[in-house]
Amino acid sequence: MDYTEKINRLANLIKDSSCTLALTGAGISTESGIPDFRSPGGLWTKTNPMETASVFALKQDPAAFYKTNLMSWTGFTEKEPNPAHYALAKLEEKGLLTGVITQNIDGLHRKAGSKQLWEVHGHLRTCSCMYCKKRYPIDFLVNQFNEGINPPLCEACSGVLRLDVVLFGDDLGGDFGGAVLAMHRCSLLLVVGSSLTVYPVAELPDMAPQLAIVNKESTAWDNKAEVVVNDTAGRVLTDVLTALGK
Ligand code: NAD
Ligand code: ZN
Repeated sequence: MDYTEKINRLANLIKDSSCTLALTGAGISTESGIPDFRSPGGLWTKTNPMETASVFALKQDPAAFYKTNLMSWTGFTEKEPNPAHYALAKLEEKGLLTGVITQNIDGLHRKAGSKQLWEVHGHLRTCSCMYCKKRYPIDFLVNQFNEGINPPLCEACSGVLRLDVVLFGDDLGGDFGGAVLAMHRCSLLLVVGSSLTVYPVAELPDMAPQLAIVNKESTAWDNKAEVVVNDTAGRVLTDVLTALGK
């Protein structure tokens, strides 16, 4: 199949599906200027996030953890959604997409207008105390860090604060359970910009009766997919919208 045939195939799959979910990863946000992990030049080539972004690193030396990660991560939230995020929001608005399961913590789907969203690796809007679990807006943590208070502390019990993102070594929170439930009703899973290597999210394609993949590089799930488009998410999803007449 050439590119146009693949776009038409993808558009038809979406048109004929009663419940389409999108599963997105870091690759959908690279066109917004946020590096992914595994592309050439991605974060993985510079550090090992399994070490620096782990719950072990946070507990062992929280000040070092915040020094390494905080400013780059909060910088994600200042970026703007790109055409791929907007295309998914538009598909939902038009009744052609039930929701988005995202591994990203950057908040760009919400910013683009997606409503039904499962942020299975958390987000950067809040933080909470590791001891008493009190929750605060993220600025409460960032302001302390900027004033030189590192690690930032809970005002109720002086426990160390943590970001409400899922770190390597953490259990997945409530949004993952919701995503699995939604997958039970899903007839088509549209993967966008994920290497599908981070578990347990990488098991979700196994639950989908039909699978479509939009990713620059190949993935381990390509063989199961009805269609694989190896191109950039912004281009592909914009073209799919056009093919659907939206
Ligand atoms: P990954 O880095 O493992 O894989 C990204 C995939 O996207 C790659 O296969 C790459 O070929 C593809 N890609 C890159 N740019 C693309 C584009 N413009 N269009 C289409 N495909 C493109 O990412 P992952 O599978 O999401 O796993 C990484 C983990 O790191 C996730 O758990 C995620 O939570 C986290 N992470 C999040 C962010 C973010 O919030 N934006 C950024 C980096 C890492
Ligand atoms: Zn506390």
